[in-house]
Amino acid sequence: IDPASTPEELAFEGALRPTTLTDFVGQPKVRGQLEVLLQAARMQERAPDHILLAGPPGLGKTTLAMIIGHETGRPIRFSSGPAIQHAGDLAAVLSALVPGEVLFVDEIHRMARSAEEMLYLAMEDFRIDIMVGKGAGAASIPLELAPFTLVGATTRSGMLPAPLRDRFGFTAHLEFYETADLERVLARSSRLMDLDLEAAALAELASRSRGTPRIANRLLRRVRDWLLVHAGSSDIDGVRAALELYDVDEAGLDRIDRAVLHAIAHRFGGGPVGLSTLAAAVGEEADTIESVVEPFLVREGLIGRTPRGRIATASGMRHARALAPDDTLD
Ligand code: ATP
Repeated sequence: IDPASTPEELAFEGALRPTTLTDFVGQPKVRGQLEVLLQAARMQERAPDHILLAGPPGLGKTTLAMIIGHETGRPIRFSSGPAIQHAGDLAAVLSALVPGEVLFVDEIHRMARSAEEMLYLAMEDFRIDIMVGKGAGAASIPLELAPFTLVGATTRSGMLPAPLRDRFGFTAHLEFYETADLERVLARSSRLMDLDLEAAALAELASRSRGTPRIANRLLRRVRDWLLVHAGSSDIDGVRAALELYDVDEAGLDRIDRAVLHAIAHRFGGGPVGLSTLAAAVGEEADTIESVVEPFLVREGLIGRTPRGRIATASGMRHARALAPDDTLD
């Protein structure tokens, strides 16, 4: 579930990314919403409205941004919140845009506050004010920008200030994928990888991929390796063995998921426990737990969020009882 991609993964993701909305599997609601928005923009030959893509990592935000560029025939430029630490960083990106360009800002919730304020004006009026000089001699110079479409991606839409959220014409909320959709993602990926896996193997892999295409594709590569090394094995054996080797359990939980569940259930007696205490207990960043681990465990009905903290549900307690004591990450 580590959002950081390896070089192998980047090359592989590039090759497997769907480039049109038709090839984009699952997320029927978001697809339908985007179809109308993009078609209307095409019909009126104007840049589409600014779009915010919200959801856990690996669900296809970058892919959708590239599709938006492709479907509207516009070039796309990439940036990210952590790379914009000063208003000047943003001014440099914005002033280099060509008319109609799509600007994709990943992790937009991590952009500096001063840059956010500059972005409000840029999104609304396609202009910015650049401050030059300091103190009494300081002056603000207005700069006209080329019209552009901002596509922001965030795993934490709740962390975006309301004035920024309100300036997006549309927010797409990406959900974890249904198993049947992940089977289609995997079938497409294995075709592109020249792998001929039986349907039962794809179904097993899909059901244990945390509802996330990136994880499905990553596990598919591990299964490919396993089958290569153990030539002659059946596909389903390859899936089960690779998943065991890489610490994915029957419910699709990985090591950090299990450590979090284990801590809530055993160390904190089922909860409630606060986020920072939980993060310290498992030795992970609170942000990773909140944006990556929790959404999945909540969706699986294993944990719940209450005003007083996180709790394990009855089903979570049952699952935790079956966990080995070494599922604590420390
Ligand atoms: P992050 O926020 O971590 O950057 P992301 O949400 O931007 O993640 P992507 O990089 O777009 O995720 O997708 C991860 C991988 O999953 C890519 O290889 C992409 O090909 C694949 N993928 C994502 N969504 C789909 C989909 N709907 N259909 C087919 N493949 C998909």
